[in-house]
Amino acid sequence: MVGMFYLLYYNPEPIVFKFGGKEIKTYIPILTGVSFLAGVIFSFLLQLFSIISDWTYNTFMKWKTAKERKAMRLLSSAKEAFERGDVEEALRIVKECVELKSSSPDVAIFLAKLKMATNSIEEAIKILKDEISKENPSLEAVLLYLDLSLKEELPDAIEIGRKKLSKDSRSPFLLRAMARACDRYHLHDEAIEYQKRLLKIEGWDRETERGFYAYLLFRSGEEKLNSGDEEGIKLIKKSMDFLPYFTPAVNELIKIYVKNGDVKKAKGLAEEAFSKNQSHFILLSLEKELLDANMPAEAIEFYNELYERVNDPALRFLTARLLLKLEMIEPAEEILREIPQELAETTPFRYLSAVLSSRKGDITYGYRVMENIIENGCFSMWRCKVCKWKGSAYTPICPNCRGVDSIRMEVV
Ligand SMILES: [Zn+2]
Repeated sequence: MVGMFYLLYYNPEPIVFKFGGKEIKTYIPILTGVSFLAGVIFSFLLQLFSIISDWTYNTFMKWKTAKERKAMRLLSSAKEAFERGDVEEALRIVKECVELKSSSPDVAIFLAKLKMATNSIEEAIKILKDEISKENPSLEAVLLYLDLSLKEELPDAIEIGRKKLSKDSRSPFLLRAMARACDRYHLHDEAIEYQKRLLKIEGWDRETERGFYAYLLFRSGEEKLNSGDEEGIKLIKKSMDFLPYFTPAVNELIKIYVKNGDVKKAKGLAEEAFSKNQSHFILLSLEKELLDANMPAEAIEFYNELYERVNDPALRFLTARLLLKLEMIEPAEEILREIPQELAETTPFRYLSAVLSSRKGDITYGYRVMENIIENGCFSMWRCKVCKWKGSAYTPICPNCRGVDSIRMEVV
């Protein structure tokens, strides 16, 4: 290289040499020297550049990994604080995480969960919307958003779920969440499709999911019937293959039997279903159909006959309640007189006593009892078998644990 440099610097004259007797003048050795030199300088610069950029990249990655590691450490201590029940502390730690500008979706998801726990639903939605608008959002963010869409008005959750499902078509969690969200937004057929796919996946909680599949079939059948499509009844019957004696399905059949004048069949089904699943809502449904068809005596007879076979205090309540409704004061009074003292002191029976005394003209007693009932949190006779949720009406899905057909009447 030094030789070439010398050549270029001190001898800019062309080189002369002889070839086959001819004298040749040429600059080629000089040009070769120049280009060689340029090549060497260029490759040297290239090396230097690559060393510098490697160093920069490594330093950045080290800094970034350290930052991510710190963020993950903070996140797990925030989760611990949350499990201890210290939501304030958890929020404080997660804010530190966010300040580190960690790119992990876990931080955003946990922050959204905390916002939900502190009832800042709007903020939780905003955080999740940012997360799910990414090209391939994390499964957990999509699941949480779908879950929120059951309580809040978030119909765009369906589209987001569909997109995720196109990439992750065999995730049981996603199928399950999509079936529930589609049901919420009245997309019955799509909900049934996802639930059917979920049931085909091995090792999944079959019983609960079969129950939910029954509920979806029922919902679709009910909608068909309401719009005048008789095919709906097939779906309602099919729902009972997946959840035997599913309360709303049984009720729908009872309604049809009574309408067709087949009271015996309706009563038989009600009794059979009640003996299997103890769902008092079936009895109430039969009562309503019989009263609508102007057959109150049939309803009273049904209760009395059933009580002879099943010793259930709730049956006494239903009978006395029906008698009072029909203004049959004396037989109602007889039932209330016969029940044991501890039962008479329960809210449902005290309510009946109040109605009875006001029917008989003693309004003060009735008024006092009603006031007491209202002060004690009204009338919650319906209780979830699974999570113990209490409410004033039957619902096919528990509003708290979302169990299917888990609500039963309780006289306590
Ligand atoms: Zn429940």
